[in-house]
Amino acid sequence: MAAGEAQHSGTDGLERYSRQMILPGWGREGQARLSQKSVTVVGCGALGSHIANHLARAGVGRLKLADRDFVEYSNLPRQALYSEADAAAGLPKAVAAAQRLRQVNSQVLIEPHVVDVNADTVEDLIAGADLVMDGADNFEVRYLVNEACVKHGIPWVYGGVLGTYGLTAAIVPGETPCLYCLLGPMPPPGSVPTCETAGVLGPAAATIAALESVEGLKLLLDRRDALLKSLVVVDVWAGDFERIQTQRGQTRCPVCDDGRYELLNAERGSLTAVLCGRNAVHVHPWPAQVLDLATLARRLEGTGPLSVNDYLLRFEVEGCQLTLFPDGRAIVKGTADPVQARALYARYVGV
Ligand SMILES: [Zn+2]
Repeated sequence: MAAGEAQHSGTDGLERYSRQMILPGWGREGQARLSQKSVTVVGCGALGSHIANHLARAGVGRLKLADRDFVEYSNLPRQALYSEADAAAGLPKAVAAAQRLRQVNSQVLIEPHVVDVNADTVEDLIAGADLVMDGADNFEVRYLVNEACVKHGIPWVYGGVLGTYGLTAAIVPGETPCLYCLLGPMPPPGSVPTCETAGVLGPAAATIAALESVEGLKLLLDRRDALLKSLVVVDVWAGDFERIQTQRGQTRCPVCDDGRYELLNAERGSLTAVLCGRNAVHVHPWPAQVLDLATLARRLEGTGPLSVNDYLLRFEVEGCQLTLFPDGRAIVKGTADPVQARALYARYVGV
């Protein structure tokens, strides 16, 4: 416990939670239960930063924060945990979120993971979690998380936001429909609008994140009886709020009925992904490699503006800005063309 903490938290450290412990069915027992629980938050953008904020303040025991990106000024209208200083320092979102949340609640064990959530990493990230929270910004990650959570029997809360509306549903493997049951096969890339074309309103993200967090808290408090058992659809601009009751069993599901985990088991090669609303491409070489950023920085000296910190190396070449992470990933800003991004990566980083 940090110095001075005792006077704020009482002898068992629970006094700060008094306003939520008096809620019906919560109590010291519920609070103590919460403090034993571990949650993985997938993505620390608009949804994930609000979710992590709610759960850290509520006093969950352990929070794993997974995100592949770094803080930019264009994140600040929506992503509540970050500051201009984080953007100026080029901090990874998971690291900046962990720093902020440790200031908010030192009782929570917070683990930042600067990582791409994919078929290779997702099972490690959710291992031992009592709950997984969806703060992702694309369907591929959500369907992958769905497969991983169904496979391991871990409850998770889906959430998505676009423009002024969003969706959320709590998914309990074996009890409720899974994401595939609810939404059908994964939409092909490019077939649905993204925040690149439709934008996203900060309060819409905050609303969906709050609804996700409530369902998550019910699961952590072992109050499954209180789950909405619905797909909730909200448009905060129009003021529409709809609950669509959901139940299992209408049609056979390849994921939760047949255990076919196609994304989790997919053969994979090097990946590129165009980042939503950013004019940037995420490059993830395969097989994975470890980059020595300091050595690389020396090699790139003289190519143009360059900066390096404990988490990333950033440099500018040919009108683009490349940000490299120690696990070999890169974010190439200044293009939405995956071929150009891979070419720049190959030219300046190798592989
Ligand atoms: Zn299903």
